[in-house]
Amino acid sequence: MNVTDSKQIVQRIKSKLIHALGTTIGEATNDEIYKAAAECIREDIMTSWADSRRRVQEQGAKKLYYMSAEFLLGRAFSNNLINLGLYETYKAAFLEMGIDFDAITEEENEAGLGNGGLGRLAACFLDSLSTMELPAVGCGIRYEYGMFRQKIVDGTQIEMEDDWLRDGNIWEIERPELSVEVHFNGTIEENWTENGLEIKQKDYNTVIAVPYDMPIIGYKTKTPATLRLWSARSKQRFDLHSFNEGIYDKAMADQTFAEAISKVLYPSDDHMQGKQLRLKQFYFLASATMQSMLKRHKQIFSDLHTLPDHVVIQINETHPALAIPELMRILMDEEGFGWDEAYQIVKKMFHYTNHTIMTEAMECWDENMFRFLLPRIYQIVCAFNEKYCNKIRAYYSHDEEKVRSMAIIGNNEIRMANLCVAVCRRVNGVSNLHGDILKEKIFNSSYRIFPQKYLAITNGITHRRWFGLANQGLYHLAKEYIKGDILKDYHLFEQFLLYKEDEEFLKKYSEVKENNKIRFAKYIKEKQGIEINPDSIFDVHCKRLHEYKRQLMKCLHIIYVYQRIKKDPECITTPITFIFAAKAAPGYTKAKEIIRLIHSVAEMVNKDPDMKGKIQVVFVEDYCVSVAEMLIPAADISEQISTAGMEASGTGNMKFMMNGALTIGTMDGANIEIAERVGRENIFIFGDSAEGNYNKKTYHTYNPGIIFENNPWIRDVCNCLIEGNLLYYGKKYSEIYQSLLFGEYGEADPYYVLADFPSYIETYETMYRLYVDQKEEWIKKTVINTAKSGYFSSDRTIEQYNEKIWNLKPVK
Ligand SMILES: *Cc1c(COP(=O)(O)O)cnc(C)c1O
Repeated sequence: MNVTDSKQIVQRIKSKLIHALGTTIGEATNDEIYKAAAECIREDIMTSWADSRRRVQEQGAKKLYYMSAEFLLGRAFSNNLINLGLYETYKAAFLEMGIDFDAITEEENEAGLGNGGLGRLAACFLDSLSTMELPAVGCGIRYEYGMFRQKIVDGTQIEMEDDWLRDGNIWEIERPELSVEVHFNGTIEENWTENGLEIKQKDYNTVIAVPYDMPIIGYKTKTPATLRLWSARSKQRFDLHSFNEGIYDKAMADQTFAEAISKVLYPSDDHMQGKQLRLKQFYFLASATMQSMLKRHKQIFSDLHTLPDHVVIQINETHPALAIPELMRILMDEEGFGWDEAYQIVKKMFHYTNHTIMTEAMECWDENMFRFLLPRIYQIVCAFNEKYCNKIRAYYSHDEEKVRSMAIIGNNEIRMANLCVAVCRRVNGVSNLHGDILKEKIFNSSYRIFPQKYLAITNGITHRRWFGLANQGLYHLAKEYIKGDILKDYHLFEQFLLYKEDEEFLKKYSEVKENNKIRFAKYIKEKQGIEINPDSIFDVHCKRLHEYKRQLMKCLHIIYVYQRIKKDPECITTPITFIFAAKAAPGYTKAKEIIRLIHSVAEMVNKDPDMKGKIQVVFVEDYCVSVAEMLIPAADISEQISTAGMEASGTGNMKFMMNGALTIGTMDGANIEIAERVGRENIFIFGDSAEGNYNKKTYHTYNPGIIFENNPWIRDVCNCLIEGNLLYYGKKYSEIYQSLLFGEYGEADPYYVLADFPSYIETYETMYRLYVDQKEEWIKKTVINTAKSGYFSSDRTIEQYNEKIWNLKPVK
């Protein structure tokens, strides 16, 4: 980078405005200024990007293909500036021009190509890979519409389309010359020739996959990684013949078939939808990626047998797993390999990360639909199944029950997780607890045959975005106190420990928090017209809405506090603002009902004069990366209250601890490892363990009715759902009440809300008292949390993947 002077940047932006956009700084709209500035940044990236691709190629370096159906990137503008080391310079340039820098950054539509944690993890990984200069390409789908935008009307979630590309996307480069064809449907023709059996797919439908590449800038490096997103196009852009014949709908049909594939992201998190279009999306991603990977390899190395030396593939959940049979197909049908020869290559290349153990999330496809859409892939999956079942049979001495449960095909379904476990070289969980559950429960039968396959690597977050960018105040404090470049080296977080008794430091540290709270208060006032008290405790529960994440428990807790204030107004001396943010999958009725409940509780609390200056409830609309960046640094309390055993890792928990919030949480996912690092005195743990919950489920020992009977105050809280003050929007919450106490299909309170509720209340009370009576102690604990958060940088996570799985060498 040669241009680092703010005056020069002003000149370049002005020049871009006039030459590229035909306007001047005085006339330009914010959008035009955004575009001009972003163009300047892009120019600086392009040279090093091309150069880094060339070097990877010249060095014959091994390259990672990180395949994911989701990349929840967030905005790129400011993040790129941070990573280029130009953030302050650009800010100064905008100041000189008299333009509000933040307003310009808000012009960018965030790339919300993901649902939640899984997609955000993929984005954090790319940032770390690039910073560590490991050769990598992210492979995904260029959804025309990302995660829906959420509005709330009368307590009800309304979904609106996320037209994120409407003003163009500065950061992507279309590469039509690298397009490939993807084939669906048709029939399979088998011919014996002198070269053996030849297999051809006939009468198929063709979709063109066009790649769009985005540079992923690492922090102060010269080797950006690439994110390659595939967009679907029809083969004939337009069937002119049909059009001239006047058959307009036929002319459109082909185009619609093709382009529907990359139209929209499915908005369900941790829930499998057996929709044909979803299967098309996954195969589209798998086939396009495998074809372009092979093309590149053949160009550089010519011999396909060396593939495993030069390519390693990580699949994020099972969504991209069709790449496994797809690579087999290409090697056999197009490159003339036999099954064994192809399999020797494939089994060395693929690695699978599991993200959830919930059965409703396990990817299974209707066998008939699968065969109809992907006839050749179906044959290959059948072959995998047969060979694998024989292996199991040999090991488990013909225990057919075992064989059935582990089979890739069963009950007329294709089970993608079983395919991955059968073929992948490594299978990893995303926290230590989750890894253990995979070994001991979910994939135990497989683990006993292939123990070497299984490992756990705890998730992480990029501290550049979630600390350096999102919490500028704290980052500046780090620059003042900490030796070395913390954005480069996550170990340096530990240096914060040196200052945990330093009064001046502690004062500055808590001022940062106060300022972040004021910033968030402004935001929510502007966006939703809600006044909140920045001097209150910000208690934040933000993540996807899911029953296992137990937003319901938080609602019950607020009702409990409300009822206590009614009886004893003095029980709350420091006010609390309870803040929720969550999107529910549009088809997830119960989740939407819980959003409505949150709004009813908010209305009950916020309109009651007795609650004034005591408690307030706020629901932040449209939770997304940009909202998280604003909200998390403002939090005092981090709610991580999932049913133990169900949150595979969580990454929200890590963002909060890094930014100086204290966690109230269960012994679940990465919470356990947070507790190990900060010490039990610096985190608030409550509730039953994963083991305890497992036993409740297995031995049917849980009866919420008894808890209800024995605790009058729990009874009062539950009764509030069906009577009294909560009857807003003309609604009662009798379904929620019913399912807590009696269940719908015999299983009452399946997420053990009432079981953990007394322990939650007690722990919360302790936590609250600490904040109110010993604020210095509180701050000290938050500093310790920040100091111990370095371990949860995704740089550490990527180091472990590289050491245990990939073995990539940094680009020179
Ligand atoms: C980090 C993040 C998540 C994941 O949060 P969890 O608390 O781990 O579920 C989801 N959505 C967004 C926008 C995030 O930034």
